[in-house]
Amino acid sequence: MHVGPVTIDYDILVAGLRGDTGFTSQEFIDAMSFSLKYLRKLMGADETYQPFIIPGGGTSAMESVASVLRRGDKVLVVSNGVFGDRWKAIFNRYSVAVDVLKANPGEYVKPEEVEKAVEEEKYSLVTMTHVETSTGVKEPIGEVTKRIRDKVDLIAVDGVSSVGAETVKAKDNQVDIYLTASQKAIGVPPGAGLLVLSERAVSRLSEESVAGYYLNLKNWVDVMRNLEEGKGSYFATLPVHLIFMLVKAFELMEREGLENRIKRHERVAKGIRAGIESMGLDIVARKPEAYSNTVTGVIVKKANPSEVLKAVVSEGLELAPGVHPALAGKYFRIGHMGWVNPNDAVTTIAVLERVLKRMGEPINLGEGVRAVQNTLA
Ligand code: PMP
Repeated sequence: MHVGPVTIDYDILVAGLRGDTGFTSQEFIDAMSFSLKYLRKLMGADETYQPFIIPGGGTSAMESVASVLRRGDKVLVVSNGVFGDRWKAIFNRYSVAVDVLKANPGEYVKPEEVEKAVEEEKYSLVTMTHVETSTGVKEPIGEVTKRIRDKVDLIAVDGVSSVGAETVKAKDNQVDIYLTASQKAIGVPPGAGLLVLSERAVSRLSEESVAGYYLNLKNWVDVMRNLEEGKGSYFATLPVHLIFMLVKAFELMEREGLENRIKRHERVAKGIRAGIESMGLDIVARKPEAYSNTVTGVIVKKANPSEVLKAVVSEGLELAPGVHPALAGKYFRIGHMGWVNPNDAVTTIAVLERVLKRMGEPINLGEGVRAVQNTLA
């Protein structure tokens, strides 16, 4: 129950076992072609969007967004925590200007605040984080884009902790760049960043962009087009074996159905939150509309969160540390994404009940489990 890399399905791991497959093999080209096409569907994008699969992960995908920026462009970063702030850290390495709108920990920047900011200043790019992994807070992407779409050039959304587990609508919400990483809700090992770019975003890929070499999407765009069409193409080596795992993951997603997959995540998340609340613990996301399907931050009263993390491992459960500096030492995170099922919600709460009781939290054993069961039933 980590926030990523998540537990990987065995069929996916096995799909990566290839002894003799290079980037020029037809098998690999076909795997890329399928994956790029499926990525559009996963992102709620249509044929007008260009999909990309690049080496790295969430951060390489984020940094590749510099490909649409030119010297002197202004960027507005909408930050709900650590990964929102990462956009600023990235763009500070380039000759562009960056403003940041920051939410209090556990909250999200309100759509009206973003609207006000883009009315006061002309921005080339606004970045958002769909689910902020450091707090588990979800930004209402559609509400924001409705208000700002006509007032900014480009909108980019980090969907690293949402794509594959939350409703993602690149096209309907008119998002120009939606990105994710392989190791989160897609449930594949780390190693790839995945993005879709609107026509408007693709038209900004040019020699004048501030991007460097490896993560410059101008260098990748023809490779992606060729591979999708079934033609071999090379700029730099892709994570070949991982792409076969991605194909298997996408096949499993298709078998489950994307809507069912999102509902499964929602059900597990609801169960976990019910258990946490019934134990009298606070959830980092302050309001229900900020809750996500993928991450729940849990604030403990008496226990030391890092001791909790050690103790749950010895009981067969792995959770993630709290990483938001403003809440340091106060919370831990439960990841519930990828191949999680309702039984994982029950066992997570069962382990937490006994570990937290041992650590002095006022827990009545069984109450948390009962709350999860009632929610799931
Ligand atoms: N954005 C979000 C929302 C994330 O959760 C993460 C990783 N936890 C990243 C970006 C960075 O991804 P990576 O570690 O794969 O570079």
